[in-house]
Amino acid sequence: MALLSIVLPSYNEEQNIANTAKVLSDLLEREEIKYELVFISDGSKDATYEEIQKVAENNPRIKGARFSRNFGKEASIFAGLRLTTGDAVIVMDCDLQHPPHTIPAMWKLWQEGYEVIEGVKSDRGKESLGYKMSAGIFYKVMSKLIKMDMNASSDYKLLDRKVVDVLLQLPEKNTFFRALTFWAGFKTTTVEYEVQERAYGTSKWSVISLMKYAVTNATSFSTLPLQLVTVMGMVSILMSAILGIQTLVRYLMGNSAEGFTTVILLILLIGGFIMLSLGIIGHYIARIYEEVKGRPKYIISEVTENVQGEAVGTWKK
Ligand code: UDP
Ligand code: MG
Repeated sequence: MALLSIVLPSYNEEQNIANTAKVLSDLLEREEIKYELVFISDGSKDATYEEIQKVAENNPRIKGARFSRNFGKEASIFAGLRLTTGDAVIVMDCDLQHPPHTIPAMWKLWQEGYEVIEGVKSDRGKESLGYKMSAGIFYKVMSKLIKMDMNASSDYKLLDRKVVDVLLQLPEKNTFFRALTFWAGFKTTTVEYEVQERAYGTSKWSVISLMKYAVTNATSFSTLPLQLVTVMGMVSILMSAILGIQTLVRYLMGNSAEGFTTVILLILLIGGFIMLSLGIIGHYIARIYEEVKGRPKYIISEVTENVQGEAVGTWKK
C-alpha cells in the first residue's frame, strides 16, 4: 500500500502541533490512507519541538526534526522533503490554513496518475490590506518574471516521489519551492481550496520579510533585472547623443555658456542609473557568493527517535 508523507514546516507553532497532528491523523485514518507526518521546527523559540516530540512518542507515524536556528520556510520544506519516505508527499502549513479536507482529493488525483497536484487558492482568506497589496504586487512581478501565473499558487501541493527526488537533487541553496514545481514540469493538475483562518497564533510574515522574500525569489528565478541595466545604459547613450548634438550646435552658434541646469540634471540622472545598476549587479554577485560558499540550506540539531537515514548536518545523540 502506498505511503503518503506530509511535510509541516513549523516556526513558533507550539499551540498548533498537537491539534494539527490530531486533525491530520484522524482524517487519514478515517480515509484509510497510510501516512507519515514530518514536522520541522524551524529554530522555534517556543516549545514547538517539545510538542513535536510529544506527538511523535504517542504516534510512531509522526517524525520531527529541529533546526539549530531559524533558516526560513524554504529550508524547512526541503529538510522535510529529505526526511520523507512516502510515494507521494504533501507540503502544507501547520496552522491548518491549508484545509486538510483537500488531502483526500489530492490523494485521489495522485492515484489517477498525476505527479504534481498544485493547491490553488480560490480566495486569499482574511488578510490585512497591506499584506494583500504587497502580496498582490509580489505575485504580479513574479508571474511576469518567471512567465507563470503565480497569483493563486501556494506551497500547498502534492508531489510524486519522482518530483521530490528531482527537487532534492538540485544543487542550489536559494530555492523557491512554489515555482520550482512549475519549473520541474511533470503531469500536473490543480485542486482549488479556500484559505482557512489560522488555527492558533499569528502569521510569521511582516511586510518587510515579504518584500525580502519577493526580491530573493525574483532574482533566483530571473536575470531580467540584469538586462534592465543594459536598457538603462542604452537610454543614457540615446540621451547623450541628443544632448551632444544640441551642445555642439549651440557651441558652433556661439552661445554655449548656458545649460548648467542640463549638466546638473544629467549628472543626477546618470549617477542614479549607475548606482541602481551597481545595486542590481551587486545583488546578483551576493547571490553567486552565497551559492559558491556551498553552505548547507539548514542545520538539523536534533531528530526524533524514529527518524532513520542520513539528514544533512544531522547531529544524533
Ligand atoms: N514558517 C517556517 N519558518 C519561518 C516562517 C514560517 O517554517 O521562518 C512556517 C509556519 O510555521 C507556517 C508556515 O510556514 O506553518 C506559514 O507561515 P505563516 O502561517 O506564518 O504564514 P502565512 O500563512 O501568514 O502566509
Ligand atoms: Mg499561515
